[in-house]
Amino acid sequence: MISIQFVGTGGAFDVAQGNSAAWITFKGKNILLDCGHSVYPRLREKGLADKMDYILLTHLHDDHAGSLSTLIFHQTHVAQRRSSLLYPTADFGDHLFAYLAFSQQQPDAHSDFIPLWQFPGRGISYLETTGMHVPGMMTFAYIFEDDDEILIYSGDMGNPDLILNYLDANPSPKKIRIFHELIFYPGIRAHCYYRALEPLAEKYSVYGYHINPETEPKDNKIPLVANFPELLL
Ligand SMILES: [Zn+2]
Repeated sequence: MISIQFVGTGGAFDVAQGNSAAWITFKGKNILLDCGHSVYPRLREKGLADKMDYILLTHLHDDHAGSLSTLIFHQTHVAQRRSSLLYPTADFGDHLFAYLAFSQQQPDAHSDFIPLWQFPGRGISYLETTGMHVPGMMTFAYIFEDDDEILIYSGDMGNPDLILNYLDANPSPKKIRIFHELIFYPGIRAHCYYRALEPLAEKYSVYGYHINPETEPKDNKIPLVANFPELLL
């Protein structure tokens, strides 16, 4: 089974839950998936700020990338090691480099920029979700697949159709777990309304994140990551 533990499970403004991010151990490597503004302090508390092998991002909003530069500087100056940043497409790699250049001038002095397909052992792919979260914004979902399991992490993507279509087009006998962002009120295009996740949850094992569980409506049927201690770091 692919190991996933959330560093935080909330959205941009859910200070108590922390920004959604995951610590994934896959093919013997530790991958930090997203690094929002609350993530670096939490990793320090847990003694993990220099323990990841790779960093991978879904997109560059602050709640997903806001402490990335600090984390990289920590690795350079405190842990004295280089960071390894995986990127899904060349465009996003350039985008990430330019983003970091505002605080680091020469991002490649601190980090190696590595295309996702070069991850050792392979097994990580992406779904480009650009424009689904916010018009014009580059965003990605990620798929981790080993011999036993497929694990999908949505990133912020607004609706579940892309993942549903992907799984319908690529049927697999493997165990499938989907971690999907959601929101509890309708009319917000940027996030996935919880009722819209029901068709996906009828077919697959779906867990919701990027939400404050205290706001959960009584009719919600999507299990929330925040309620599963084994899924929390
Ligand atoms: Zn977000």
